[in-house]
Amino acid sequence: MSNKNSTKELREIFLSLKTGIKALKSGMVVLEKGLSKLEKDILNINKEALEKLHKMISKEFEALKFVEEKEESVEIKIEKIEIEPEMEEKTEVSKPAEIESAEEIKIGFYNKTLGKLYDRLHREFSDLYTVLKRAEKTKIGEVDKGEVICRVCNMGPCKVVEGVEELKGICGADASLVFARNFARLVAAGVSAQADYAKSIVETLNDIVKGEIPFKFRDKRKLKMFAYALGINLEKSEEEILNEVVDKISKIFFQQKGELILAHRAPKTLIEKWRKYEVMPRGIDREITELIYRTSLGVDQYYKNILFASLRCALADGWGASMIATELQDILLGTPQPVRAQVNIGKEVIREDMVNVVVCEEDPLVAEALIQASKDLEILKLAKKAGAKGVNLVGLGCAGNEILMRKGFPVAGSFAYQEAVIATGAVEAIVGRLIPNVVQIANRFHTAVITTNPISLMEGAICVEFNRKYPLKSAKEILKIAVSRYSKRDSTRIYIPDEAIETVSGFSAEALMYVMGGRFRAGLSILNENIINGKILGIALISGCDQFGANENVQVELAKELISNNVLVFSTGCSAIKLGMAGLLVPEASQLAGEGLREVLEAIGCPPVLNMGSCVSNSRVLTVLTEMVNTGGLGKDICELPVIICLPQWVNEKALSTIMCFVSSGLQVVFDPGNLIVENKKTNKFLFEEVEKYFGGSIRFAKTANEFSGIIIDRIKQKRKELGIDQLRPRIFYDMAMRRTLDEKRYISSIHKSGFFEILENRSIN
Ligand code: SF4
Repeated sequence: MSNKNSTKELREIFLSLKTGIKALKSGMVVLEKGLSKLEKDILNINKEALEKLHKMISKEFEALKFVEEKEESVEIKIEKIEIEPEMEEKTEVSKPAEIESAEEIKIGFYNKTLGKLYDRLHREFSDLYTVLKRAEKTKIGEVDKGEVICRVCNMGPCKVVEGVEELKGICGADASLVFARNFARLVAAGVSAQADYAKSIVETLNDIVKGEIPFKFRDKRKLKMFAYALGINLEKSEEEILNEVVDKISKIFFQQKGELILAHRAPKTLIEKWRKYEVMPRGIDREITELIYRTSLGVDQYYKNILFASLRCALADGWGASMIATELQDILLGTPQPVRAQVNIGKEVIREDMVNVVVCEEDPLVAEALIQASKDLEILKLAKKAGAKGVNLVGLGCAGNEILMRKGFPVAGSFAYQEAVIATGAVEAIVGRLIPNVVQIANRFHTAVITTNPISLMEGAICVEFNRKYPLKSAKEILKIAVSRYSKRDSTRIYIPDEAIETVSGFSAEALMYVMGGRFRAGLSILNENIINGKILGIALISGCDQFGANENVQVELAKELISNNVLVFSTGCSAIKLGMAGLLVPEASQLAGEGLREVLEAIGCPPVLNMGSCVSNSRVLTVLTEMVNTGGLGKDICELPVIICLPQWVNEKALSTIMCFVSSGLQVVFDPGNLIVENKKTNKFLFEEVEKYFGGSIRFAKTANEFSGIIIDRIKQKRKELGIDQLRPRIFYDMAMRRTLDEKRYISSIHKSGFFEILENRSIN
């Protein structure tokens, strides 16, 4: 009886709590609406109102903001790198033919926004060399099939031709060796980019732990989950756990022996394969330096051995550097959750009445500080004085995708939009890691080009060194430069095509588990079940960059073809932004999906293309795939899943390390090699066929959307057949013994273990 009573009481308490939380939530909605109305009114009026707004915004940001920076006397280093005059003594070269008019630019545009803005640039500034003009005039041209160039030593460069003895390199290197060396160096460069990025986040966290950076980390649940993966005792205090995480991770980069601990997160079968074929990575830096050394003349002269080393180095990226960067960013700034935001250029994205600052900055702390500084009273006053209503931050490219994922900030476009966004005539500053040609475009407008790190300077740009100990002050210096440019803006030259579109982004692995399984049973069993029953044919990740001047919008055509064939699409990097611009990142796009996929998507209210973040977030894909294997029903290893990876366009070397990491993790990767390869029979045989025998992954080449989709659907069907889920299975009636076996096998996701769930509960209520 008393038990019954206490259950009843508990039930009542629970229901009251639930009602209370609901009321709190609706109160928050009303408060937010009121706040945005107030913002509109206040920005037009007087000082008191401005201060009132500041107070309200400060309160809103209290939980997120940098702690007050006390030492105001600190100087933020600002340096303008002047463009050096051309040397008087010029090298005699045959100049490319002049382009007389815009009509002569033959490169087409995959979308009308870019078309309109480049058309403007080419018509108004016929003497200006945009990237598109350079792409037509500067490229050396195709390397003949079977030819590779080697520059490894000073006896060369050598042009080496496949299968022609007299056209080996001076040292005797054949085409397969030269290709393997060139390829390995690109992979090492890609891994080093992700490693350096990850290190900067480790440093930030380290400085926060020491109290040197005035910032509080946000995601306690993620901290615990990551600590668990590192084998840290979770009984310790949060501070101790954080200290230990930073300590352990810092050592991973320089570890010389043993195994990369995060690689142990992979399925057991895969770990055994890595051990057997000796590609289990050690420390991240160790793999990078060794790979570069091995490609020197006189060291590793066997192409297969070099390619194996590339696979090992790439694993140190996906399961090491990229995973560290992703996890630590989540701990620091919060794990992304689905959020609505606009992408592409539009009047709500680039604001005519505000100081527009385009953020293309990889360092998450810079973006975070800029967000806070844009609400600072001093900056708001300056903006108001200059005649603007405030400062509007807009993301761009992969880095923009990170801000979008966490904050719902608009993203003006992909990597290929760097020049076009300036051509709107309404951008006061573009901040971050940019292509050098941007300076020339910016000089025709009033835009300041700003870099924030002394390792990425550029002639004609201003470097505002981001001082991590004074993030807010550094960010304010950047915004002051932007605000000072507002008065130089020529309002008659503003041209903002209004083509922005809404997206839903923020599908981290955790978010996906909540979307698929609900709050109290977050997991991927629904995903697996629907793959097994055939409603979802399989999964394709569309990753990679955006090429300037590409004619076919390959990613978009491909995604449409795939979802109509019931393939669920994951996406990262600039590809995700392109898919967003095509309207595929909203739940309404499920109408374009095949019947089975649509049924699942409509039940859970999910878009058919899931934006999982920047290219560093490819590690989220590895986490999801491992979780799918652990959930059960689809084999014991990643290579058994009906999943495929594709990179229709790539620009940066990081793409090559991504490709090799997925291959060695057991997945087929389809990509457009561009001018990289090569009709090299030996290396192609290795990458297309042999490597599959070791790890289950392989490489395929494709150029058009049709070629990509053909390969992808065939591969997914092949995997379904191997799993025996290509046909409807007869219904099985379970007896008790069979049910007990099922119970024994039940998998509990780590998201539910060791008190993580309780932490999440606390976080949500607070
Ligand atoms: S390493 Fe061999 S192939 Fe390469 S540049 Fe030197 S001599 Fe030529």
